[in-house]
Amino acid sequence: MKTYKIACIPGDGIGKEVVPAGQTVLEALAASSNTFKFEFENFGWGGDWYRAHGAMMPADGLDALRGKDAILFGSAGDPDIPDHITLWGLRLKICQGFDQYANVRPTRILPGIDAPLKRCRPEDLDWVIVRENSEGEYSGVGGRVHQGQPIEAATDLSMMTRAGVERIMRYAFKQAQSRPRKLLTVVTKSNAQRHAMVMWDEIAVQISKEFPDVTWDKELVDAATARMVNRPATLDTLVATNLHADILSDLAAALAGSLGIAPTANIDPERRYPSMFEPIHGSAFDIMGRGLANPVGTFWSVVMLLEHLGELEAARRLMQAIEQVTANPALHTRDLGGKATTTEVTQAVCSQLAKSS
Ligand code: ATP
Ligand code: MG
Repeated sequence: MKTYKIACIPGDGIGKEVVPAGQTVLEALAASSNTFKFEFENFGWGGDWYRAHGAMMPADGLDALRGKDAILFGSAGDPDIPDHITLWGLRLKICQGFDQYANVRPTRILPGIDAPLKRCRPEDLDWVIVRENSEGEYSGVGGRVHQGQPIEAATDLSMMTRAGVERIMRYAFKQAQSRPRKLLTVVTKSNAQRHAMVMWDEIAVQISKEFPDVTWDKELVDAATARMVNRPATLDTLVATNLHADILSDLAAALAGSLGIAPTANIDPERRYPSMFEPIHGSAFDIMGRGLANPVGTFWSVVMLLEHLGELEAARRLMQAIEQVTANPALHTRDLGGKATTTEVTQAVCSQLAKSS
């Protein structure tokens, strides 16, 4: 019997509701398996930790995570703490500390979900967005001078390294190759950004030669947003820079019906460190503590976690259970126009799992 060590970091707001729900579902899977089980360790990092200790996580926090097989994360964000502190102090610290350079976001319209694009059939929207997760616009390089003076100035430098672009391109081409259509769209902005994005394009051409069976094209990020809305079926796998993919993937999640459904994985493809799985939504303090949080984004992230562990059958069973639950409007949370609670959705997924075991 294999034992997977899972670190759980609920973080802030509804993270404290959806991560325990994710744990419940993992327990349900383990209960019906005689080949694996989970050993959870919970970390109470985030806004509360910040108020008590002046930091979002302990200075040696990464050491506590290092030996884990995966991390299940909720969200970081607190109305009383500036966003750049909550983001850089926890989530990005883990992403960067463990070089989780590939951020992967699958998007599909799940059964029973009323998505906003009326002309789009569910089968027309089936994407994976691969986001560069370690450098680019969010590399943190920049500065601010002459604060408060008329000549005040600030920069955020988008730094891209050849090695960084090559590895994310290679990961994206591999991802595209693993999917039935073998189709990749490289999102760029090299018409306006004349240095880094031109290198980005050149590296796409170079890496494409390693993947002759992948069909690929190039799209400007502005045009990509329109194409996602107007011609969704022409897209399959997309790769974009840190900032571009951040924006495109929120659009993708909205087009699929709700922010509450969308999952993401921060992957270290070389498996030197644990990878981290999380719903894409934030801490949503407006609905916290009332049982209104949709746990589906977390459950889908758990599917990705299981795939990463190589537990493909368990991943398939969980995805099937999620789809059986979303197909039933009586089990929709408020964000989907329903009345079901976080606990009811969680229990419904667990009972579907019990049926498929
Ligand atoms: P953060 O500052 O951490 O990004 P946020 O409060 O901006 O958090 P978002 O995740 O950006 O929250 O979500 C925006 C709104 O969408 C929330 O205020 C909430 O009403 C709704 N929402 C987000 N996630 C969920 C969910 N899982 N279930 C139900 N509603 C959600
Ligand atoms: Mg937000």
